[in-house]
Amino acid sequence: MKAEIISVGTELLLGEIDDTNASYISRRLAAVGLDVYYRHTVGDNLKRLVQVLSGARRRASVIVLCGGLGPTPDDLTREALAELTGRPLQTVPEAEMRLHRFFAERGRTPTPSNFKQCQVPRGGELLDNPVGTAPGVWLQHEQNLYIAVPGPPPEMREMIDSQVLPRLRQMLKKNGTLWTRTLRLSGLGESQVADLLADLLAAQDNPTIALYASPGEVRVRLATKAPDEIAAQQVFAPVEQELRKRLGPAVYGVDDETMEVAVGQALLAAGATLAVAESCTGGLIASRITDVPGASRYFVAGYVTYSNQAKQDVLGVPADLLREKGAVSAECAEAMARGARQRSGADYAAAVTGIAGPGGGTPEKPVGLVYMAVADAQGVEVCRQLWPASREQFKQRVSQTVLDMIRRRIIGG
Ligand code: AMP
Ligand code: MG
Repeated sequence: MKAEIISVGTELLLGEIDDTNASYISRRLAAVGLDVYYRHTVGDNLKRLVQVLSGARRRASVIVLCGGLGPTPDDLTREALAELTGRPLQTVPEAEMRLHRFFAERGRTPTPSNFKQCQVPRGGELLDNPVGTAPGVWLQHEQNLYIAVPGPPPEMREMIDSQVLPRLRQMLKKNGTLWTRTLRLSGLGESQVADLLADLLAAQDNPTIALYASPGEVRVRLATKAPDEIAAQQVFAPVEQELRKRLGPAVYGVDDETMEVAVGQALLAAGATLAVAESCTGGLIASRITDVPGASRYFVAGYVTYSNQAKQDVLGVPADLLREKGAVSAECAEAMARGARQRSGADYAAAVTGIAGPGGGTPEKPVGLVYMAVADAQGVEVCRQLWPASREQFKQRVSQTVLDMIRRRIIGG
């Protein structure tokens, strides 16, 4: 079903505030399976608002307006709906009572203009606003559903989540809700994934298959419209099986499962323990591992060894090695991993050492250079990468990759 969003407010057109409401509403409508085809921004002007509405009602079934529900003369959303539909504004007595109560609780008296907010085009309903004075509007007229929510973002979010979405879900039930299942991948680039899935992507129908790439991660999202979750899973299952066959160990999780959760699951399944030795990530890897409840069952120790001296004292990295190869070297990463494994007694130990920047790079060892190592009873695996990025992105990317190295080492991928 098609939807359009209309953001109302001259301050939006002037660029004084960003239209964050429209993004929020877009995401929420998509989540219930409404297809947002157009978004509009219009000033506080009755004629232009009616114009935009008359275009929208020819294209979309559901029209969501935000803003322009306040008490002042330039808040014109209600008036525009009344004019468009030919339904005069009428006062809702319960809303009037609620407004009196709202002001009484705050020791204030409402002004006549506040009562404007108790009006709705004939046949429409007001939507409760528990966090402010402006009620929303729900109005079915001919083929269209008009929904108006207040502009202040906290009020808008509350009304969308607690009132608009439940009603929309109810209404769309016959139509089917949108269900999704997202496979999360690591170690493959977007174009590699696209190549591996080329025929599936070209022939996709139900479920639809979409790729989303972010730094260090690609997601494959399956989507289908179905009456309930079980029916949706039946549509997803054969496609997911085929995707897993092609993508193999690159699939580390589904939906909200993070890499640190995947690492924890692999360690628990193997009955193994883990330690980490970190230089350039400053404890981020240990922090992510311990974000998972129950990490104490497999996480033994995290060493943040930032200086060369600490690498020697805490992990036993030889002074000669540091002098000859430097702290950012494959040899140092390997020695850090071996040292962490030995000193903690863990089955697996990972280590990272690199140059996060922005300073400290040289032609031989540029900013973004990083060595990552994983040690187990069989030996040590070292990986070199060059990722010039902000410190924060660099640390995130290194932590994600080393966690993936640990995971793959455990599952033998
Ligand atoms: P209104 O409901 O039009 O009186 O809007 C009240 C206030 O909500 C405005 O002054 C803005 O600060 C905020 N607001 C309105 N529309 C938006 C929007 N689309 N995105 C973010 N904030 C908004
Ligand atoms: Mg406004």
